[in-house]
Amino acid sequence: MPDSDVIIIGAGVAGLTCGCLLARKGLNVAIFEKNPKVGGCCSSFEKEGFSFDLSVQSLGECQEGGRIWDLLKGLNLLERIRFIPLEPAREYHFPDQKIVQSSRIETHIETLSRLFPGERKGIEQVYYVLRKIFDEFSRIPPSFNWFDPSSFSSQYPFLSRYRDKTFQGLLDEYLFSPFLKMILSVRSSYALLPPEEISVAGMAGIEISYFNHGVSCVQGRVEELPIKLGEAFEKMKGKIFLQREVEKILMDNKKAIGIRLNGGQEFTGEVIVSNIDARKTFTGLLGEDEIPSGFRSKLKGMRPSLSYFILYLGVDMTLEELPVSNNEVFTDYAFSEEYQALYENRIPGQAPFYLIAPSRVNPSHAPEGKGTLCLSMKAPYHFSKAWDQEVIDRLSQDLIGRASTLIPDLKKRILVKAETTPKTIEKWTGNCWGAAYGWAQVPEQSGVHRPQRTTPVPNLFLTGHWTSPGGGIAAVVASGELTAEAIWSKFEGGGF
Ligand SMILES: Cc1cc2nc3c(=O)[nH]c(=O)nc-3n(C[C@H](O)[C@H](O)[C@H](O)COP(=O)(O)OP(=O)(O)OC[C@H]3O[C@@H](n4cnc5c(N)ncnc54)[C@H](O)[C@@H]3O)c2cc1C
Repeated sequence: MPDSDVIIIGAGVAGLTCGCLLARKGLNVAIFEKNPKVGGCCSSFEKEGFSFDLSVQSLGECQEGGRIWDLLKGLNLLERIRFIPLEPAREYHFPDQKIVQSSRIETHIETLSRLFPGERKGIEQVYYVLRKIFDEFSRIPPSFNWFDPSSFSSQYPFLSRYRDKTFQGLLDEYLFSPFLKMILSVRSSYALLPPEEISVAGMAGIEISYFNHGVSCVQGRVEELPIKLGEAFEKMKGKIFLQREVEKILMDNKKAIGIRLNGGQEFTGEVIVSNIDARKTFTGLLGEDEIPSGFRSKLKGMRPSLSYFILYLGVDMTLEELPVSNNEVFTDYAFSEEYQALYENRIPGQAPFYLIAPSRVNPSHAPEGKGTLCLSMKAPYHFSKAWDQEVIDRLSQDLIGRASTLIPDLKKRILVKAETTPKTIEKWTGNCWGAAYGWAQVPEQSGVHRPQRTTPVPNLFLTGHWTSPGGGIAAVVASGELTAEAIWSKFEGGGF
């Protein structure tokens, strides 16, 4: 008898979601996590009385009827975790004008149509296509075999039509104004890709999961979400082993049968689920000989998403007087130059940056009379070899200087400072190069082309942002649910 029905490697939000749903079915599930706490990217930390969310700042699908809301309801957690709706969702600051994005799709379309009256039909059409793709994608069965999509185009006409297209292609199909296209493209920067590279499917995931059920922050610390999922999992007799790094997936007769920890201890399971970096799963934990050569070369040619440099500040002011809302993007008009620099491992001068004032929404993040700020910019992992203090200070000064145009005397008011580099993210999550969203959502790594949750190795499944549908909390919750569904249907059908 194996030690567990299901072994999950990694306690990210996807691993926890998958674990909860399988434990609720009565399966015996064990999660092994290398860190001292659950959550992966969805984590928080404290410094000198201030609280900071490491990376995740806002989430889609958390209001009534949304995917995350439904998951929490099903696990009886709705009373134990609160969400704060964000309205507006964001403000985009171009050098000479500001665009406010509502978290409601109808309001957003109306605002844009008023600004560009001749383009109303085109704007509506773009969102119609995104919605259709999102809906079709949500209907794909959990164990969809993307190698043999015989009736694909009739069942999923929009996914089929746009599966190799970029968002820029969709914009060019329906819109004329270059500035309007640019406004609609700012959100692709949240997948760390320009509109000419991000797939329509990837963009549909980001955009519609936000608009469908509002944009929210978790009340208190964002890590309350994985912590509560972990508690629900343990209540259903699931076991979480913290500070246990998996170094090997054990195989027998070409099937995954268990794991070995870096201390040498072995555990067996009927099913193994990997919630970690997919390349590591297949080439590190498994070994290249265990996977078919075609799959191996596909993996080799794939690229991870970019990463971030983040500066967290505890400041001696409440930030109530800040002339902006909570969630700002300061951008310019030169998207392609920016990405060209990032791909050459440079951070362009005057790079677009993001400004968030979390304590304005979550006052508990700062002591009375004080506030928190989170300033960030896209950063390539290879920008610096060591990411030493000198590099960190240079980038921090740049961000502080630019935020000072909005917050006079910012430098003098800083009480606490902490930074996250791509290397920090890599170390904490195990995601190579500090990838923020798993594989980059380019057409050949997106939608039906993304590595699926079922793998070429029998009894080995994937969950999380390295598989389908992709990155972001709402998407990895979807992934956790779909992986659980695929596994459960096999248990139910006597497949194990
Ligand atoms: C800077 C940044 C900002 C972001 N902002 C947002 C946002 O505002 N909104 C949003 O929705 N999404 C955001 N995201 C994306 C989102 O956080 C991720 O897509 C999501 O959390 C990934 O979840 P996951 O479960 O797939 O994996 P992860 O969170 O990566 O979890 C994987 C887990 O596996 C563990 N692990 C790794 N290797 C091993 C091993 N060998 N043995 C055992 N355990 C192991 C890790 O420690 C980790 O806990 C952001 C990401 C980053 C990095």
